Amino acid sequence: MVIDGRDVDAASGQTISRESPGHRGKVVGTWPAGSTEDADRAIAAARSAFDEGPWARMSGAERSAILHRVAAGILQHQEELGLIECLETGKPLAQATGEIGYCADLWTYAAGMARGLEGDTHNAIGDNRLGLVLREPAGVVGIITPWNFPFIIVSERVPWALGAGCTVVAKPSEYTSGTTIRLAQIALEAGLPPGVFNVITGTGPAAGQMLAEDPRVDVLSFTGSVRVGTHLAALAAPTVKRVGLELGGKGPQIVFADADLEAAADGIAYGVYHNAGQCCISGSRLIVHNSIRPALLDRLLDISKRLPFGDPLGQGKFGAMVTEQHAEKVASYIAKGLDEGAELLLGGERLAAEQGNFIAPTVFDRVTPEMAIAQEEIFGPVLSTIGFDTPEEAVALANGTPFGLSASVWSRDLETAIQTTRRVKAGRFWVNSVIDGTAEMPIGGYKKSGTGRELGRYGFDEYSQFKGLHMTLGRQQPWFQQS
Ligand code: NAD
Repeated sequence: MVIDGRDVDAASGQTISRESPGHRGKVVGTWPAGSTEDADRAIAAARSAFDEGPWARMSGAERSAILHRVAAGILQHQEELGLIECLETGKPLAQATGEIGYCADLWTYAAGMARGLEGDTHNAIGDNRLGLVLREPAGVVGIITPWNFPFIIVSERVPWALGAGCTVVAKPSEYTSGTTIRLAQIALEAGLPPGVFNVITGTGPAAGQMLAEDPRVDVLSFTGSVRVGTHLAALAAPTVKRVGLELGGKGPQIVFADADLEAAADGIAYGVYHNAGQCCISGSRLIVHNSIRPALLDRLLDISKRLPFGDPLGQGKFGAMVTEQHAEKVASYIAKGLDEGAELLLGGERLAAEQGNFIAPTVFDRVTPEMAIAQEEIFGPVLSTIGFDTPEEAVALANGTPFGLSASVWSRDLETAIQTTRRVKAGRFWVNSVIDGTAEMPIGGYKKSGTGRELGRYGFDEYSQFKGLHMTLGRQQPWFQQS
């Protein structure tokens, strides 16, 4: 772990180990098994770095220079970080290494913006008054992250929090802690003062829960499941801290009859199979106009059958499920889909089980909206297809789950695309694409997919306090008239 600028073990001396999901039986990481004692040390370090250290008082230019150096450090270590990410998550090496490059760009963007974080002025609130809105750093930020995109998710939050002048305690998933630890070490080498970015490792309840409960933490940013997110929001409530939640999804891919079917089939395959379906923004529900359903499914099945999968260190596009338990959970959803009467067009089986936790690309047709495979986040390479006849029906189907994280619409008609975008509740939208994103654009959820927005200029507001300063020019009208 990294606490107050030093690499430390857990106070208990205990460790946890990680087996590669794509190479059965091979241990690829060992980290300290942190507990509340360690969380306490990390929070104390972040608190005193915020209250007494230089970071919150530095100019934006000084903070920016350090964040730029972190971005450069990430690029210098791109191959190493990509390999760690690949082995711990089970995603293909080329994908993992590419993600590290994307993260360097996130840090670069936040570094640039850190110089331009202004407040506001109000010059029309009366002749004797001037209003200033002062942007201040929000304080100590606890950041809890999941296992599916460990380096991306930490890089979508930490540079924004640091850029705003906050200090951070990050708790990565117990399955994929390696790159977050390396990130904190790279940040120290880049000149980030000790205590500004701390990392504690271990299981959620033991190492992470204190970040919600402790009053010394001002902001909790949680990314993960609805179950844990709502639990932590309830634990955080008595401290009245700000809580940002980025939770699950059940992304619809709405395909109209006028869509470019080749492009849509390719996008649907990417949307559901990328990261073996373990994306919060997966396009896991295909909502397709009935007139093109057979033609689109033919093209999709053709791609699905030819997808290379296997050893994450090889050339595959398709990696492993994060754990054996998770593979079993995905398999149980497939069984439930069959039980509920959906038609299995392809896949459904485990692949190369002796090598790792692989599940075949799986496509269901004739799914009805109330089925579990249409409502719940499966987090695997499983597509649920539902047909529609009218645009109103398509919108109702798209909105018909508890989630609202992401959505795609495929159409050549601008009006259809825009009107659908307006009516479907999702924080991240794509027209004729899927799983796209850049540092400039906000991400976040509607409904049970979460609260708050990360990235872009919006992300900095999550980690800022705004103070309304009212200045009186000249003498104010007395409240109490002396007689
Ligand atoms: P999870 O909720 O099980 O765990 C997420 C993190 O919370 C881990 O670090 C875990 O150790 C920690 N945690 C668990 N219990 C805790 C507790 N009691 N106190 C403190 N911390 C605790 O989620 P996961 O299985 O790691 O990730 C998959 C989920 O994450 C999916 O639902 C997915 O949709 C969601 N996700 C959302 C986004 C987004 O941006 N909206 C991005 C990626 C993943």
